[in-house]
Parts: sequence; C-alpha cells; structure tokens
Amino acid sequence: MDNVIEFNEFTFSSSCQTGEACCWLCQKGTSLRALFCQHCGTIQPVRPLDHFARLGLERRIDVDPVLLERQYATLKKALSPERFAIRGLGERGHASKQLEVIETAYQTLREPLRRGRYWLALHEKEIQESESVNPMVAELRTELDEASAAAQCDRIAHRAGQAMEQGIVGLMQALRSQNWQIANAILLEVDGLESILGDVRSRRSALTLPRGAGSDELTSVK
Ligand SMILES: [Zn+2]
Repeated sequence: MDNVIEFNEFTFSSSCQTGEACCWLCQKGTSLRALFCQHCGTIQPVRPLDHFARLGLERRIDVDPVLLERQYATLKKALSPERFAIRGLGERGHASKQLEVIETAYQTLREPLRRGRYWLALHEKEIQESESVNPMVAELRTELDEASAAAQCDRIAHRAGQAMEQGIVGLMQALRSQNWQIANAILLEVDGLESILGDVRSRRSALTLPRGAGSDELTSVK
C-alpha cells in the first residue's frame, strides 16, 4: 500500500514541500485551494485565501451571478453536515469552519456594495473620509429634517434609493477602471444615502404610528 510505505518522516517532509500546504492528516503536500486532500480525501482546514479563490472564481470585480450561485451550491453540498456526521471531531470541525468562511465569501461577493468595499480592501485602498458632505446627501438630509408627513418621507426614500442604484453602477465603473478616488467618493455618498434610508424609515414609522397603520390623512398634516 502506497500510503503505508510513504508515511514516514522522509516522504513526509519532501512531499509536503512540493505542495503549497500540508494535509493535516496524511501530511502530504496539497494545494491551498484544495478543500479535500488529493491523497487521502480528508477535509482540509481553512487556508488563507481571498473570497474569490475561496469560491473558485476568477478575481474580477464583475462576478457572474449564475457562476457564483453554482459554486456556492456545490461547496455547500460538499460540506453539508450530514456528510460529516460519522466523521471524527477534527473533520467535523474543519467542515463547519469551511462552511462559515464560504458563507462569508458568498455574502460578500454577491452584493455589489460589499464586493466593492472588499475590492478596495483587496487592493489595500483605505476609504478616506471627506470633510465635505456630498451635495445630494446634504440636500436629502435637509429635506428629511424638515419632513413632517409620510408622503415626504416616501419621496425622500425613493430618491435616496434611486441615487444608491446609480451610485452602485458608478462604483463598479470606477473599480473596473481602478479609479480609486471616484470609487472612494461614491462609497462615501452611498454610506450617506444608506444612513438617510435608515433614518427615513424610523421617521416614517414615528409619523404614522400614533394614528395607527394606513392613515393616509397624515400626509396632509403639517
Ligand atoms: Zn491527506
């Protein structure tokens, strides 16, 4: 049996050096990306990989959503707890940690905004805060401060939502062309819009709550 003969100190060190990583069980060389050891088939511990590599995707700002879903589903299936039910504690532990990091990678890459922020971090670009507030954000903020009717809140929410959508499109373009400054500015704008959207929701419920749900007459109340 190959496994038995090779399982000694000499092959242990030499074979492991040929790989990027060592299998924690058979100690043979394996690749960083390998979820399972190619020699003994054992689940591998979480390795230092970026989210793209983790999901077996090319590192690109534009992610093919169909491919992303497929990779995620395949990995989840390979790591499903039932498959490890009769395995030892070590293997079950590695499988559940792998599931966790795959979930994080998937959640990060599927949402353009999170992906954009992650893309900046991958390129070691830190988001720089700005002294001046984005004019659109400032305008919506003023309107929100003065809003006294649910309909006003809805208009603000609608405009903020639209601006966010445009912001995401612009962010992707900026990241594609590696225009970090523009990407930074858009992210700050989007942060401002997100906070307005959060506040507009609480303002709206504060305006509508005292009179109960569906009170349209509130829209005319000043
Ligand atoms: Zn192995």
